[in-house]
Amino acid sequence: MLFNYHTHTTRCNHAAGTDREYVEAAIAAGVKVLGFADHSPYVFPESFGDYYSGFRMRPEQFDDYASSVFALRDEYKGKVKILLGVEIEYYPLCFDETERFLKDRGLEYMIVGQHFTRNEHDPGAVYAGARHADDEAALSDYTDTIVKCIRSGKFLYIAHPDVIRFDGDPAIYEKQMLRIGEAARQYNVPLEINLLGYREKRRYPTAEFWRIAGEAGAPVIIGVDAHSPAHFADANDLIAAAREEYAAFGLRFAEESIL
Ligand SMILES: [Zn+2]
Ligand SMILES: [Zn+2]
Repeated sequence: MLFNYHTHTTRCNHAAGTDREYVEAAIAAGVKVLGFADHSPYVFPESFGDYYSGFRMRPEQFDDYASSVFALRDEYKGKVKILLGVEIEYYPLCFDETERFLKDRGLEYMIVGQHFTRNEHDPGAVYAGARHADDEAALSDYTDTIVKCIRSGKFLYIAHPDVIRFDGDPAIYEKQMLRIGEAARQYNVPLEINLLGYREKRRYPTAEFWRIAGEAGAPVIIGVDAHSPAHFADANDLIAAAREEYAAFGLRFAEESIL
């Protein structure tokens, strides 16, 4: 594995290990380009009150995150190229403000990790993997958001695009997911096969989604989604297994770093 743009830190409250341990583990796995993309803080409008999500860093933690990543970048120069990113939900109500906040502090890239649907922000939002997504309106709402993100040119790639759960007509699923695959091809924004989901045998990666993505000719990237430095140790084996499993879909994997 030469690159990974999906690495978390303990600031999101559900990952383990020091920032340095992630760097060391990634280097040991052969990584030459390492992107940290912890769960982004959000700058919510004042009308949201003092709401904070428990599974993301807070805005006041971002400077520490950035300075730690930049210090490691200097220290490991020549061994690995380290980048500062975030995994972020697209929340229309607070996106512009949040993007400004992050870029002012040195952010270098964003990946979309859209875990919720029909939401402007997390309070009251509906988890994309919940059983609710059995009607086309829910699915197309999710698809609209992802396609909009792809077209915006603001995101390096789309993390686990297949996180959405849909229990309805497979033809509807295919129609909607094809929209994502075709936008990804057209705008050359890779879709991520999520190695954490693969490792933990979650509902995603979903083979049916990747069959459709292959048909659409979408570019594909593998993201470790490391929530522990140990997730790098066997990543190469898992990547080989996933690629073999999906070989029949003719996926266009990124073989070289994209940033
Ligand atoms: Zn996470
Ligand atoms: Zn992640």
